[in-house]
Parts: sequence; C-alpha cells; structure tokens
Amino acid sequence: MVHATNLGYPRIGARRELKKVLEQFWSGKLSEAEMLTQAASLRQQHWQLQQRAGLTHIPSNDFSLYDHVLDAVAMVGAVPKRYQWDGSVVDLRTYFAMARGMQNDQDQASAIPAMEMTKWFDTNYHYIVPEFELEQRFQLASTKPIDEFLEAKALGIHTRPVLLGPISFLLLGKTHHSGVDPLTLLDQLLPVYEEVLRKLAQAGADWVQIDEPCLVLDLTEAAQEAYRSTYTRLVAASSLRILLATYFGDLRDNLPLAVQLPIAALHLDLVRAPEQLEQVLSLVPASLALSLGVVDGRNVWRTEFDRALALIERGVQALGSERVLIGPSCSLLLVPIDVQQETHLDEDMRSWLAFANQKVEEISLLARAVNEGRAAIDTELQENRRTFTNRRSSPRIHNPQVAERVQAISEQMAQRPHEHDIRKQRQQEQLHLPILPTTTLGSYPQTAEVRAARAAHKSGKMDDASYEAYLRQAIEQVIRFQEEAGLDVLVHGEFERSDMVEFFSEQLTGMLFTQYGWVQSYGSRCVRPPIIYGDVARPQPMTVYWTQFAQSLTSRPVKGMLTGPVTIMQWSFVRDDQPRSETCKQIALAIRDEVLDLEAAGIHIIQIDEPALREGLPLRHADWRTYLTWAVFCFRLAAGGVRDETQIHTHLCYSEFNDIIEDIGRMDADVISIEAARSQFELLDALETYRYPNDIGPGIYDIHSPRVPTTAEFVDELRHVLHVIAPEQMWVNPDCGLKTRHWEEVRPALTHLVEAAHQLRASL
Ligand code: GLN
Ligand code: ZN
Repeated sequence: MVHATNLGYPRIGARRELKKVLEQFWSGKLSEAEMLTQAASLRQQHWQLQQRAGLTHIPSNDFSLYDHVLDAVAMVGAVPKRYQWDGSVVDLRTYFAMARGMQNDQDQASAIPAMEMTKWFDTNYHYIVPEFELEQRFQLASTKPIDEFLEAKALGIHTRPVLLGPISFLLLGKTHHSGVDPLTLLDQLLPVYEEVLRKLAQAGADWVQIDEPCLVLDLTEAAQEAYRSTYTRLVAASSLRILLATYFGDLRDNLPLAVQLPIAALHLDLVRAPEQLEQVLSLVPASLALSLGVVDGRNVWRTEFDRALALIERGVQALGSERVLIGPSCSLLLVPIDVQQETHLDEDMRSWLAFANQKVEEISLLARAVNEGRAAIDTELQENRRTFTNRRSSPRIHNPQVAERVQAISEQMAQRPHEHDIRKQRQQEQLHLPILPTTTLGSYPQTAEVRAARAAHKSGKMDDASYEAYLRQAIEQVIRFQEEAGLDVLVHGEFERSDMVEFFSEQLTGMLFTQYGWVQSYGSRCVRPPIIYGDVARPQPMTVYWTQFAQSLTSRPVKGMLTGPVTIMQWSFVRDDQPRSETCKQIALAIRDEVLDLEAAGIHIIQIDEPALREGLPLRHADWRTYLTWAVFCFRLAAGGVRDETQIHTHLCYSEFNDIIEDIGRMDADVISIEAARSQFELLDALETYRYPNDIGPGIYDIHSPRVPTTAEFVDELRHVLHVIAPEQMWVNPDCGLKTRHWEEVRPALTHLVEAAHQLRASL
C-alpha cells in the first residue's frame, strides 16, 4: 500500500477567514478566545477535508497564526531580548510582538520593532528571520506541535506533525551582530527537538515530518556533517519514524548525504527535479522509504496523471509499494485553495487548474491507481487525458503571431543603436536636464479617496466619465505639486493602478484573474497572483493615454511608467508547458510594443521597473548565470527598440543588489534608480569596486518609514554617494514609489530632497 500524503495545507481559509479574524483581534474587536476558536475551526475543516479525500498522512502543526518559522522560534524559546519575555512559555502577546512589533501610543520612542522578514527560498512568502545571540539558550517554550496533534486526535484524525528541521531553522536565522556561527548552536538546540519528539511519541504520533529545505541549497562541509550527526541523534530520541522533507529543488551534491541519513523516509521534489528519482533509486538503502512529490505545490495546474504515474510506478517497481509515499512536491501553503470557487471562469479553463483541494484529490487518486490498479481510476484517467489534450491544442494558449515574433527575436533587437555616451548626449540635447537631476519613481500617495474612486469605478458605482474626470484632476494636482517642488522629471502618479502587476496583466492576453485565488504573503497579508496560461500579447496600448495627458499639462518631461517582463512573470503563476524564459520573452515583446507607442506619443523618458529581478535567482549559484543571462536579455528586449534620444530608466528595490551589480549594469538602462537608503547604503560598497557604466540614482529617501528627512540629512547622504559616483552620472531620487506614504510626509520630504540637490549643484 502506498500512502497518500500531504506536506502542508494553506492556513488562511478559502475566504481568507484567518486574515479577517486576526485583523479583528489585533484591532481589539475580537477576543483572544474567540480568535483562537475560529482558528481551531479552520484547522478542523482542513483536516476533515483531507481525511474525506482519503489521505492517510495528514499534516498537523502546518497551521500557523502568523508564520511557521516564527512558530519554531516560539517552540525553542528563541525570543530576542528586546521583547522582554519572561522565559516561561511564549504567550500570544510575545508571539505577535515578534511578528508585528510593539507599539506604544503614549511614547513612540519606546516602540519595539518587529523581527525581520525575508522571502522563503524562491517564493513570495515571507518568513520571520530567527535571531541568535552570543549566549543563545533554547528551551521548550511552546507545545503547539503536540497540542495540535492532540486536537486532531480528539477529532478522530491521526495526523503527521510537521516541524521545521533544526538545521534549516539555524541556517535561515541570522547572527550578524553576534558573529555566531549558527551551527555551533546545534548542541544547545537539539535537546528541545528531542523533547518535542518524545512528547509527540507519548501523545500517540507514529510519523513526524521534519522539513529540511536547506538540503537543496549549496551547503558547506560543516553543514553536511551537521546533518549526519543531527539526524542520528533525532532518530535515536524517540520511536517516531522521521520523514525528512526536501523541496524547491533537487538534492544534487547533497543527495548521497540525504539518502544515508538514518531516517525512515525521504521526500523528494519530483516536479522541479523529476530526474533525481533515478539517482536516488541507485543509492537508496533498503531501510529507506521514499516520498514522491509528484503534484506541483508551487503552481496552479492540474497534474498530468500519466506522467505522475510513470514516476510512482517506477518507484514502486524498485522499492515495493510499502516503501513509497505520494505527496505534493512541497507544502500546499503557496497555492490558492479551491478552484471551484472561481465561478467566473469557464469549464475549460477551470478544468486545467488545480488549487489545494484539487491537488489533495489528485494525490488520493494517484494512490488508488497504484493500490487498486489503474483501472480503479479509469474514468478520471480518461478525463485527465482529455483535459491535457484539450489544453495542449487550445487556441487560447497558442497565438501564432506571438510564436512568430518570438522566433524572430534577435540579439540586435536587445541592443540600443549606440553606446550610452552617445545616447546621453542626444537625450540631453532634447531634455536639457540640470546636473543632479531630481525625479520620483512613479506612484504618489494612494489616498483613501484614490482607492475609493477606483473601487467605485470597478464595481460600477462610478461611471467612466466621472472616473476619468477624477483621474484628470488627480493627475493635474500631482503635476502641479511636482512643478512647485521643483522636480526635474515628473510622473503621472499611477492613480489608476492598484498594483503594478495587476494593472498590466489585466490588459495582456494570455493572463487571467481569479476571484478567490489568494495566497499568504506574510502574516495576514495575502496576494492574488495572476495566472499566465497562454501566449502573452498586448492587443492595445496600456499606458499611453494617461501618460500623454500628464505630459500635455507641463513643459517638463513626464516619465512613462511600465512594469518589466521579469517582474510581471515573477509575481504571477506561470504556465508549466514552456520554460520561464520563453514566457518572459513574450512579455518582453508586449512591453516593447508599449515602450514604442509611448515614444511615438512624444514621451521622451520611459521607466521599466524590475524590482523582482533578484528574486528570480535560482537557489543554487551554479544556475545563476543562465537565469541572469535571459532575464537581462528580456529587459533589454523590452527597452531596446527606441531611438538614442529616448531615455530608458529602470528601478530596482526590495533587496540588496551587490552580488549582481554587474548584471544590472548589463541591463544598459540609461538611468537606474536603485534602493540604497533603506539598506543602509550598502550599495555603495559594490560601487566602490565596480564602476557603474551609465547614470544612477541611489535612493536617498527611505519611503518605508514615515520619517521626513531634513535637507541637511539629504545633503549628507548625497555627499556620501558622490564618493563613488561622478556628479555627471548621478540622479537624485527616493528609494521607491510613494504610494504607501501620506501627502503630509511626501510634500516636505520631496521639497527637502530638491533643496538638497540645489545646494549640491551650487557647490559643485
Ligand atoms: N513605479 C512603481 C511605483 O512607484 C514602482 C514600485 C516598485 O518598485 N515596487 O509604485
Ligand atoms: Zn521600488
């Protein structure tokens, strides 16, 4: 008998119930008891749903009130000192203080910031980064894994508890001020894990799932050795059978290590890396079972049963069915919950998609096909084949014109007619910008009024004409403000956009929107990524109308504002029937069309934002070059069609870019504005050794903070930047768009920013 298993189920609820409950609790509108009751009811629904579907290993402790890494922090009592925890159990107040910080309305200065967040591997989920101190001690400070196991048990559901593995937990943490090597903390940490395992065994668990996603990363020898000693210890600690889960990639050089660990079962991501099955089979010892991740936990597509069954049957043939488990490639945390809710999609489209509930059913069906024979699922198998035949040949996916255009892409299309020096001269003849030109990155405050107008228009409560009139006056106001503030290059403010990807994907063919396809981004924050299902094309101009209108109001140049191909792709679910690089090229061609239309409409400066460029980096260093080559190429393809006279800008943010700074140079944008203030100007370290070839504006205003810097502070920062960037090369701008700020902050901050530029100009 193969087991039908799951590695994790989404927490937020099919209608984002958890989000609502948490936010009510935080704002004092819901009691703690009521919030906890509703969270328990979600867990119950999720367990029962998986039980009904026929899974035999159902996860528990995959639920979280905020984040599973924070849960691990609580479990081992790694609460940073600033939260003044009493050292007993981690109560909810301490838990949410770590997640969200502690405000003090009376005294702002005594507010305690939240712990840092960062992206979970190559996903858009953010986890709380554990912090370790010099004399770090650990203790069992939350029994959540045991409590939730018992909670399910009381409902008659025998679950497989999930723990974040101790080594991944340490490697994901940071020790920067203490300079501690996280692995030296293992001896301190492991007794807590041993205690949890013993308690789980006492509570009646037989299996435990320990997640060690760091096994798919480049590991030092010390880390590899730590895996050996740790799992020898943990296996000996209790009678539990340990399933060690790896996901998000292949084990590669860590494979021999992983199969030799004395664990009961090893989970493999066979969606990202199907080829590793054969490698593992050639090395697997007789004591080890394999959990085959054949259903894609990172994407929204139906599983092709024939393909999945081929892998499973190969496993069963080699190991026997007793040593095979079937599951998703990784936890289903990062896919939406139920495609049946998407009633606005037609049958065809819905049949191509599988969200968490559909994936759970698929796993169960695949297990039946092995346990009872393929004939047992014959109807479903036939239907699955029809779905794939239909999807493969659907005219909605294939656009012959797009295919032809992609075929015809040449290196030359990604190449501006001349080098930057010549372009700069030609642009300057047209733009007459002063030295140290000032600009902003696109959006201006999205006030309640702006959001209300957009929502009213979307729901039909505001007619097109009134909405247009509203946008006109909003744009006119922001143009006047920028003129008064003395900015040199203006923007239209992006009031018509709720989100920089959604706005474009709504206008591109080959992309669709869900109604309830939410996935957790962090805590109670959810995002609804668009789905790229077919060839992407741009039927008509997307931004020309409002950009041109803004330009008509002023004699200063207005910068057109676009989202780049890598970012549109990175923040969407992508099709799985062609490489990402192909999808990206298609989007690049669509953006290229828009760039050319803007140019033809008399827009001389066009910014193509690529904040997600770095996020797309593969998990292994060895794969970086390939990715960066096509990603940079796609940007250049989007930008490369214009004349020398047209100035192309790009904007990067949300991370530090020092390790890919040369690739950023290769994007060959005439001007880049790049996050710097927010990351303590670490960017300048890279620019000391690498001479950035074109023009650059390191962001001097950290727009994530409500603080308004003074003119003097800006002058200091600019002077600092001028140590590594020549004045002729330098632009003056904030770190990012201003959409989350208030006018009361933006008005003085930008006035100071312009004043600072003026002071420096006078002193040069
Ligand atoms: N142009 C966008 C804005 O200003 C850029 C946002 C971003 O980089 N995240 O909002
Ligand atoms: Zn930005």
